[in-house]
Amino acid sequence: MITLAVLWLLPNLAFGQSCGANAFSNPAARSGVFATNAVTIAAVGDVMTHRAVQRNAASLDRGYGAHYASVAPFLSRADITIGNLETPLAENLLPGGRETTAPPRTIFDDRVYSGYPTFNAHPSLAAALKSAGFDVLQTANNHALDRGPAGVDRTIAALRSAGLSHTGTRARSDLAAPWHTIVRSGGRRIAILACTFSVNGLSDPNRQALRCFSQQDEVLGTISALARSSSVDAVLFTPHWGEEYSLTPNRRQRQLARAALDAGAAAVIGAHPHVLQPVERYTTRDGRPAFIAYSMGNFISSQWSIPRRNSAILFFDLVRSGGQMIARSPRYLPTRVMPYRTGGWRIMPTEVTPDGAAGIAHVTRMLGAEGRLGLADLGARVACN
Ligand SMILES: [Zn+2]
Repeated sequence: MITLAVLWLLPNLAFGQSCGANAFSNPAARSGVFATNAVTIAAVGDVMTHRAVQRNAASLDRGYGAHYASVAPFLSRADITIGNLETPLAENLLPGGRETTAPPRTIFDDRVYSGYPTFNAHPSLAAALKSAGFDVLQTANNHALDRGPAGVDRTIAALRSAGLSHTGTRARSDLAAPWHTIVRSGGRRIAILACTFSVNGLSDPNRQALRCFSQQDEVLGTISALARSSSVDAVLFTPHWGEEYSLTPNRRQRQLARAALDAGAAAVIGAHPHVLQPVERYTTRDGRPAFIAYSMGNFISSQWSIPRRNSAILFFDLVRSGGQMIARSPRYLPTRVMPYRTGGWRIMPTEVTPDGAAGIAHVTRMLGAEGRLGLADLGARVACN
C-alpha cells in the first residue's frame, strides 16, 4: 500500500477566495481509511455525457481529461477504481448503429456524438478516464444499445485500447465471454460483475447486455460460482437499477442486493437513479459483514439540482477474514460537478467549492456522517490563491 505521507496539490483549485472557509476535518474518519494488506476500492456513479458536457469537452485542449483533473488524485489512490459509463463510445456510428464518417477531430456534433436520449461519446473519453485513475467501467446500463449492437462492440474495443476493463456487456465477436471482469491487485483477484435492469427497449438481438432481473438466475449463479472459485478472492456486484430521481431503493433493488450478498458478493454498488441512495449494512446468511450502496448518483452530468450534481467517491477496503475477503464499511469523499466559469465542466471535492455546504449536507444525509472523509483525511492539501 502507498503511504499517505504524500501531500497532493490539487490542480486548478484557485477560486480567488479563502478555500479554508469551506474546509472541514472529520478526525473520526482518519483511522483505517486504507487498511494495510487490503485491496482498496474506489467506486463512483454515472459518467453522463449530456450535450453540454460533450460540447465543453470539445472546446478544451485537454478534452474530457479536464473534467476529471481535480479528482484524479483520489481516483488514482485506490487499487481498483470503478465507474458506470452511461454511454457508448462508438466511433462513426449514428443512433441505431448506422455507419457514417464524422469529420476528423470531431468530438461533438450532436449527430454521431450526441446526448440524451441516445448517447454516444467520442472514444477519447476512454483515455481520459484511464488517466483519471479508472480501471473498470461498467458498460451494462440502459444506454448500452444506444448505437446498436455495433456500438457495444466499438465501446468495448475503445475501452480495451485505453487499457480499461469492462463488465456487463459482450462483443458480438465473443458472445461466450464472461459477463464479469477480474482485476488483479497485489496478488489478489477481484471479480466485478455488472448488469442492467433495461436497455430502454432497444433491440439486443445478440443478448450483449446482462439483465439484472430477467436473467437473475444467471446473475446470482455467476456470483455464486465466482465466490466459490479458488482463483477469485472477492466478488463485487454493480447493478444498474432503481427509479430515476428516487432517494430510496425499491423492493426489487433490496431483494436482489441481499440475494447477491447471500450468494457470495462482498459488496453491492448500484447506479442509475442519478441521485444518491443510502448505504445499508447487511450480514449475510453465512455471517459475513457486507454493505449495499444502492445508488452512487451522477459522478458527472449536466443536471443541476443539489441531489443530481452532488455525489461522492466511495472508498472501501477488502480485507482477509478467515478464508475469504470481506468489505469493510465504506468511507466517502463528497464531490460536486462545477460548471466552472473559465475551465468548463469539472468534478471537484465539494469542500473546496465556494457553494458546497448544501451539497455536503445532502451527501452526508444520504451516506451517513460516520464515513465522511475530508481532504485532510486523505492526506490532501488544497492550493488557494
Ligand atoms: Zn441509467
